[in-house]
This record gives sequence, C-alpha cells and structure tokens, in this order.
Amino acid sequence: MSVEVYIFDLDGVIINSGEDIADGVNAALKQFGYWSVGKERIISFIGDGEKNLILRSLKASTKKKFDETTEYGSKQLNSVRQFYHEYYAKNPVVHTYLYAGIKELLKVLKAKNKKNILVTNKPSDIAGLILKKLEVFDYFDIITGGDTLNFQGKTVAVKPDPEGLILSLDRLNQKCNSQFKNENCIFFGDSPTDIQAGKAFGCLTAAIRGGLSDKNLLSPEKADFSFSVASEIEKFIDTLSKDVQKSELKSQALKNEIPIIQDEGSDFICSYIKEHNVKSIFEIGTAIAYSSIRFAMLSPDIKVTTIEIDRERFEAAQKNIEESGVKDQITSIFGNALEEKINGNFDLIFIDAAKAQYINFFEKFKNQLNPDGVFISDNLSFHGMVEDLSLTRNYSTIKLVKKIRKYIEFLKNNEEFETQFYSVGDGISVSRRKNKTLAESVSTVAQKASDD
Ligand code: SAH
Ligand code: MG
Repeated sequence: MSVEVYIFDLDGVIINSGEDIADGVNAALKQFGYWSVGKERIISFIGDGEKNLILRSLKASTKKKFDETTEYGSKQLNSVRQFYHEYYAKNPVVHTYLYAGIKELLKVLKAKNKKNILVTNKPSDIAGLILKKLEVFDYFDIITGGDTLNFQGKTVAVKPDPEGLILSLDRLNQKCNSQFKNENCIFFGDSPTDIQAGKAFGCLTAAIRGGLSDKNLLSPEKADFSFSVASEIEKFIDTLSKDVQKSELKSQALKNEIPIIQDEGSDFICSYIKEHNVKSIFEIGTAIAYSSIRFAMLSPDIKVTTIEIDRERFEAAQKNIEESGVKDQITSIFGNALEEKINGNFDLIFIDAAKAQYINFFEKFKNQLNPDGVFISDNLSFHGMVEDLSLTRNYSTIKLVKKIRKYIEFLKNNEEFETQFYSVGDGISVSRRKNKTLAESVSTVAQKASDD
C-alpha cells in the first residue's frame, strides 16, 4: 500500500485563519447589536461549517438564551451569518498565515510526484483566494469546497460525511486519468470530524494537534498519525511511498508519534562509529531504541548504554531490544539523565533528548568522555527553524528554538571543546576536547593523583 495522494483540510492544517475568522464573527455580532465574544472562544467553535460557527457564537454572546428555533431567532441567525460571510469574503487574509513548513512540504510533495488535494467547508473561491495570496495555490491538483457540487448536482455533504473525500478522489482520477484508491490517500485534519471522515472514507488519517480545534477532543479519534503541524510528515514521505509495514520499528514509531532520528542523521553517526572505531556509546534519549539498536548492530563489540525518562517508551524499548538480537550489547536505563548516575566512560555520547537541557547534559557528562571521545548532538536545525525563526509562530516552538540557538552559541564559545557542525539530517554537531596545553595536562595529572 503506497501513499500517493495527500489530502488536507484548510483551516487549522494549512492555514492559521483563527484570528480573521474571529474578527469576522465579531464584526457581524456587532452589526446586529450583540456583545462580542473572545477570540479564543470563537476559534474553538471552528470546524464544522459556517452555520454552527455563527450559532455557537450567538449563543455565547447573548445573556438570554439564543433560540434559533423561533422565527425571530432563525432570522437573526441568517442575517448574522450573511453579514459574516460577506465580511470574511472581503477580509480573509489579514492575519492569516501558513503553518510552519507547509509551503516547503507542498513543494517536496510535488517534487516527489505526489498529488495534493484540499477539502474544506469554506466556499472554494474564498479558499482559492487565500491559497493564491499565500502563494501555494499551484501546489494543489484539486480543491473541493463547501459549495462544490457532487455528481447528483447537490452541494457536497460536510464532514464527518466522507463525500468530500470520495468526490475529490474521483475528480483527481478524472483530471489526471489515474486510478488512485482510498488506500493510496492520507488525510490531514485538526477536528474530530476530519478524522471521522477519513476513517469512513478508508484512508490513513493524520491528526494535527497544533491546529484550531481542541486537541483533547482529537486524541480519542485515534488517527493513524498525530503531529503538531502537518509538515512533520515530511520525513515519512519516502517510507509511506514504499510499504508502511516494511520496517516494523519505524511504523511503530510513526503510530506513536515518537521522534526517531532521520536516516541521514543516523547514517552519519554510524559512519562516525565505524571510522573512529567507537566501542562504547552513551545515548541520552532512547525513545523506542531505534537508534541504539542500529548502533549496536554495527559490530558485536560495541556496547550501548541508553537512558529514557518516559516509562511507556522505556518499556517499548526493552521489548524491541529483547527482540533485536543485540540485547547483550545494550544496557537500557529508565530515568532522568540529569538525575541518574551513569557508570563508565564512553567514546561517544549521543545527546538526543529534551532540547532545552542540552547544555546541562553536556556539562554533566563531559567528564565521562574518553580522551578522544566526542559528544554528538542531533536536531540542531529543528526543521530549519534555528536558521529561520519566521517559519514558526508557535510560542513554545520559538522558545525551544531559542534554547537550541543558545546551545549552539555555548558550543561555539566553549573553551574546553571544539565543535564541528554538519547540515545532515536535522543538523548534527560533533564536539571533541581541545588539545590540552602542557600546564593543563599537568594539573589534570596532579588532580588525578590527589583523587587517588
Ligand atoms: N534516540 C532516539 C530518539 C530519542 S527521542 C532515536 O533516534 O531513535 C528523545 C527522547 O528523549 C524522548 O523519548 C524523551 O522522552 C527522552 N528524554 C527527554 N528528556 C530526557 C531526560 N532528561 N532523560 C532521559 N530521557 C529524556
Ligand atoms: Mg480544520
């Protein structure tokens, strides 16, 4: 089963349109004499069409109960909705922006010959206008909006009904003279109704937690993948193009949204291990032992010690190590690397855990490196955001990226260690102790002697 067709919901997946939508709703409420409603509140009402958005906003706005079943209520609902519709059509891209990495993702998908489809409740002309303004319109093969007509000449049913997905795939196959099936598709959505529609359609589903919808409502839907932004799929496109089952570990990691090192990055470390005859490795951040098993498999005389703070992952790692055939070479520890005492000295310490703590890991373990030993750290580019912070507007991501920058500065200005940076995978650094001056060596020897 290979995935060739990437289907995206618009609001909360491709674009963050929350603020413009909220502004439109408040403009409409104000026009008809209603109290305005907090932006966050309105944003939480987005996801299943314009009518529900306006109805919930009216209910949140009025002190008395808003009753849409009365003649007056239903007229008010219609008028407010009409005003909102026209207002929003005129102002759809004031604050709206693409989520981090979306344009790059769409570019990569096109370069890899994949098809891209947009399925939204928005009218297709407004959706098209937004995509054009944000310069991603040309990446989509098909756009299905809330006003698109099905083959019976009726407007397409809204999600969770899968009709929009079925219709889109039919339209794609007609347009491209192709024969893709539901199982060749993956659907990205940020609302429970999206995941329900994808499941009813019978394709893979990806839940986007960083969208507009409440992420706590999303997890019970049990999507096949869960990402904070859709662009995180990028490193899995090639795996999905082949056979999802091919690497058991990898698909397990995908399903549980566990970060594993990109192949390019782990290839780099593996060649370092071989070239420098590394025999003892300490890894901070086991996850499910994907990388530690790979390292151990390089040679039977390599020993890996690895530590993981998360109980569930630690247990999954143990199971994987047990089944791996290299279990005698791996010591897997459960605990916080900043608190546990780790025995031994190492040729290589691989830092692959909480980014904010990189400097602390470095300081804590630097004296357990063998004389020619190195620290290797991963994710120093953080999907390109370290170089270009404008790729994200997410507050916690920005904070994280700043921490990574601080770590890079720390390495660059370090007096004891010199560091080389490589732009492989997600950005890797190799730090080794600087050649000691005679005086320093003498003082270390003296120190050692006094320790003894
Ligand atoms: N090296 C793995 C991926 C590790 S992902 C691979 O490539 O396959 C990072 C892991 O570090 C996460 O599972 C996280 O739970 C763990 N982690 C974060 N902070 C930690 C800490 N202080 N001590 C130990 N593990 C930590
Ligand atoms: Mg959405």
